[in-house]
Amino acid sequence: MKTIIPSYYHQFRCVADQCRHSCCIGWEIDVDAATYERYCGVEGPFGERLRAGICGGEVPCFRLTQNERCTFLRADGLCEIICTLGEEYLCDICREHPRFYTENGDVLQAGLGLCCEEACRLVLSEPVAFVEEETGTPVPFDYRMPQAAEKYTPQEWAAQYRRLERLDPKWDAYLDRLETCRDFAVPSHIDPAIWERLFAYFLFRHTHEHAAFCAHAVRVIQTVCAAVDADFQELCEICRVYSSEIEYSDENIGYMYEKTADA
Ligand code: SF4
Repeated sequence: MKTIIPSYYHQFRCVADQCRHSCCIGWEIDVDAATYERYCGVEGPFGERLRAGICGGEVPCFRLTQNERCTFLRADGLCEIICTLGEEYLCDICREHPRFYTENGDVLQAGLGLCCEEACRLVLSEPVAFVEEETGTPVPFDYRMPQAAEKYTPQEWAAQYRRLERLDPKWDAYLDRLETCRDFAVPSHIDPAIWERLFAYFLFRHTHEHAAFCAHAVRVIQTVCAAVDADFQELCEICRVYSSEIEYSDENIGYMYEKTADA
């Protein structure tokens, strides 16, 4: 199967201890079977510590501390597993994050998910271009945003979003702002090219089948940005929170596909 990637895909580097919203906090991280088996074979005190830091059960996962940090996330923001054993000992999820894979007909679309702040910076800064991973050949991708009107007002959408499973309480603060907006808005102080990049990201991840959702997601983010007069950093933060809330919950994304398809 051919793999298509955005041209900046291989530029991604986790910023580790510089990350303000580490993905090692607040998420339950499953350990795949092959890695778990490997961890079982690690000898010495760190091997014991490794196994003690994993909850058993049908699907083993890293224990979280009381403040929801992965037990292997050190106070200095670095990963104890990488520091002790090396990157090759990461489990699949930790190694792959924030990459996503979408099968689209006979191609695999691989990208970087907006729930990671460094991925957000790249997605919103780099020109839109897609290439075949193996050959680097440019691939055409139509990312013109549909202009169909929204079925609900921002206030009504805020109520819809509040019904969804909540992952990050920060999303509530943005919904409070969305609720105060009478109409959808496009902030004039932000370079329009950024919205094209954002729409292309959503479309590449969710495919043209869900173009209505993709356009809606951009409009919501634009409107919240206008309401809070966001600079680039806050725009990245709004995208990160939106993505974490909606794209990483099967229930939430399913609901949004359905609701926006009606619109
Ligand atoms: S959110 Fe992104 S930059 Fe931050 S720790 Fe995770 S992968 Fe690294």
